[in-house]
Amino acid sequence: IIDGLRVMNLVALPAFSDNYIWMLHDDRQAIVVDPGDAAPVLAALDAQGLALSAILVTHHHPDHVGGLAGLRHRLEGPVYGPAREAIPTPFTPLTDGDTASALGLNFQVIDVPGHTAGHIAYFLPPSREGQAPVLFCGDTLFSGGCGRLFEGTPAQMHQSLGRLAALPGATRVCCAHEYTESNLRFAQAVEPGNGALADYTATCRQLRANGQPTLPSSIATELAINPFMRCDAPDVISAARTRGAADGSGA
Ligand code: ZN
Ligand code: FE
Repeated sequence: IIDGLRVMNLVALPAFSDNYIWMLHDDRQAIVVDPGDAAPVLAALDAQGLALSAILVTHHHPDHVGGLAGLRHRLEGPVYGPAREAIPTPFTPLTDGDTASALGLNFQVIDVPGHTAGHIAYFLPPSREGQAPVLFCGDTLFSGGCGRLFEGTPAQMHQSLGRLAALPGATRVCCAHEYTESNLRFAQAVEPGNGALADYTATCRQLRANGQPTLPSSIATELAINPFMRCDAPDVISAARTRGAADGSGA
């Protein structure tokens, strides 16, 4: 990402068994997203001599907020979080249409209920022509899948995924978990004839074999391969019917 004369680096810090804590930094200052654990963030800050300028939180689950207490002493700016969820205080509460500002970047907040009732996502539009936007979507959209419905309804999740589907295709999708390979096994069972899905599965398998993240994905990729973003595809509809979905409810 290039913002004016600054180069912004986008890094996935592995945490726990399959979480990613996303970090954006300009070699001096950093923003982190959903720090479930302080240790990998502190290690990354120290290794590169970075200041911590802001924290973005998408939802209240412990694997996304557990590191807040251990990062406060290093934090030089705000914690942003979902207004409708109880996350460790103090934080700046945000809802749909609000802006989270840090490092001179303005993140647009999108309400995406479903996984949790107050889950939000952060969308960073490109700062100039030809740049890819960035999306931090927490546990709402995963590559090849979506988050489990702990607090929301299928209709809410469907609407939330629809809002993310409307973002530019080039948007880099930064999900909070490496669930891609198991999601793609399900996706292939749903759409065995999807050639883009077969190709993407092979690419992801290779990345994981090399110890690399499969993320970020992109909105265009998810529209091509993710059954939860493809509810109009004939194979997705027939797979849902096989499992007992009613016709035409959209819910
Ligand atoms: Zn979660
Ligand atoms: Fe999570």
